[in-house]
Amino acid sequence: MEKTIRKVGIMGGTFDPIHIGHLILGEAAYEQFELDEIWFLPAGKPPHKRNRSGRASDVQRVEMVHRAIASNPHFVLCTKEMEDQGYTYSYRTLETMREENPETEFYFIIGADSLFYFDEWKNPERICAAAKILVATRDHAGDEKLLSCMKQNAEKFHGIFLKLDTPNLDISSHELREWIREGKSVKYYLPDSVISYIQEQKIYQD
Ligand code: ATP
Ligand code: MG
Repeated sequence: MEKTIRKVGIMGGTFDPIHIGHLILGEAAYEQFELDEIWFLPAGKPPHKRNRSGRASDVQRVEMVHRAIASNPHFVLCTKEMEDQGYTYSYRTLETMREENPETEFYFIIGADSLFYFDEWKNPERICAAAKILVATRDHAGDEKLLSCMKQNAEKFHGIFLKLDTPNLDISSHELREWIREGKSVKYYLPDSVISYIQEQKIYQD
């Protein structure tokens, strides 16, 4: 029988810069949940990251994502949040995506650190109504802690939380920005095409 419902994973992030952690999460979600596409969604103006001095511009963050995902045919760049004025909220973005794509089931991909603050996001129950949540471990969060937090959030916000099977990936944009500033190598943590762009544009260098 022909498949009518498309399954799309949303990998949202500040991507300042995008790193292999984000890419591996996207690929794991694609494979483990038999998704059709992964949309990489650079955050517009996330309310929890207001102080952005010494960071990449919106145009640069989008270009880094563009370069990072170019070689993967099921990865798609989604610039939806860049078009919005004012602060952007995941629940609103996901609800708009649902309205615009009624035949699509969405899977919102997050790391454990995001899960632990999920109840501080704006309207978590509306995020849960719009998408299933796929959770990857991070910072060596054990399965027990992770699964119990997923269960609590699922009950509180009437959501479906599913565990992604990924190794702990000890990598963060924050640390990579520091390494670049200190002149340390970030090779293999970022795609070469992103490293060369950071060098060309002199991003994060002071
Ligand atoms: P920063 O250090 O600036 O906060 P980051 O590395 O956390 O950057 P974000 O853009 O904030 O990257 O993350 C976007 C999403 O990807 C979040 O849900 C976050 O939990 C997840 N994520 C990022 N890096 C990892 C990683 N190494 N392992 C698991 N999840 C990750
Ligand atoms: Mg982060």
